[in-house]
Amino acid sequence: MIYFDYNATAPVMREAREAWLDITEKTGGNPSSLHQAGTRAAVALAEAREKLAAYLGCQPADIIWTSGATEANNTVTHHFSKTLGPQDEVWISAIEHPCIHDSAKYYFGKRAKLIPVTHDGVVDLDWITTEMADKRPGLVGVMLANNETGVIQPWREILAMCQAYEVPFFTDAVQFIGKMPMAGLGDCDYISGAAHKFGGPRGVGFLKIPHRKSITPLLHGGKQEGGKRAGTENVAIIAAMMAALDVREKQIAHNQHLLRGVWRDNFEHELLRTLPGASIIGANAPRLWNTVSALMPDGDRKHQWIIRLDKAGFAVSTGSACTTGKEEPSHVLAAMGIKGEKAVRVVRFSAGWETTEADWEALVKGAAKVHAEMHSGKVHAVA
Ligand code: PLP
Repeated sequence: MIYFDYNATAPVMREAREAWLDITEKTGGNPSSLHQAGTRAAVALAEAREKLAAYLGCQPADIIWTSGATEANNTVTHHFSKTLGPQDEVWISAIEHPCIHDSAKYYFGKRAKLIPVTHDGVVDLDWITTEMADKRPGLVGVMLANNETGVIQPWREILAMCQAYEVPFFTDAVQFIGKMPMAGLGDCDYISGAAHKFGGPRGVGFLKIPHRKSITPLLHGGKQEGGKRAGTENVAIIAAMMAALDVREKQIAHNQHLLRGVWRDNFEHELLRTLPGASIIGANAPRLWNTVSALMPDGDRKHQWIIRLDKAGFAVSTGSACTTGKEEPSHVLAAMGIKGEKAVRVVRFSAGWETTEADWEALVKGAAKVHAEMHSGKVHAVA
């Protein structure tokens, strides 16, 4: 099986598993306990926090460990629902992950405004410029890179606008961290991340908040995380997350050619050549080197592709894991104007650092074979 579903989750890497075991064996205590076993756990936790702060370019005290990005993102929307005035709006991009989209709607209703995107899936900067000249929202939230399309957002420009108008800027960095350099990211007020997208364990992530600011906790109880998030920290999976990030940071530093998306581009070129009628979503936008969102030829529904490619030895996806199983357009594609019959023809291929050039080549051959099969009259067998 060749795995092309890294945006859903990446396999847990050896270094992360080893770090988990090592910390589990060495630090049996609760990091809040004062005895030696507890102190050892607290030291390991502090080391992880310092490391992440250095990568992000922020202070260790600005980091809160969470159970993943869903919790981190909900913490932000929840916090602003408690601190903004009754008329204040929050503006989030129309392509945010459901854990932001739905929680913003839940907390703010109509006061959660969606920032439109272009046909290529890039946040409309003109919209922000025009609207901000008129009205200041209480929060702007735009992800760094979209999970379905891989389109990288102009976050530096949005951050600069937010800074000029003194509006807090929140970014979901889940699909970006571990794939792209993090330089400058620490200037964003709120940043969320999740270990399982970069080879760490599932069920752990973090939230970076502005320096010396507090946050309304989502979870109440103990005074862990400086009173910002109750619950005993899982030191071993946090250490495993940081071990994975260490590996990814080295890979990013030493693989510039991969960051340019050479293998992805070759794959797309071959895919379009072998599948007449196919096209690439967000083709004209800057995109992550690992992600291809392809609109498959007329009549080829995505679930047939996924099942047939699976049988052929390739794990691919329909897009966001949260919409899997539903033959309805994702809100991301809808925001890009890809609706109706077209939206059920989109298949996402997402590679990882472990993916080789040969894997990409095999995938395009596999896709050509499946396409031929689907059009040889056997199409209804796996519908
Ligand atoms: N944000 C983005 C962009 C994602 O892709 C995901 C996961 O699919 C999440 C948030 C949610 O992360 P987690 O699984 O850690 O809750």
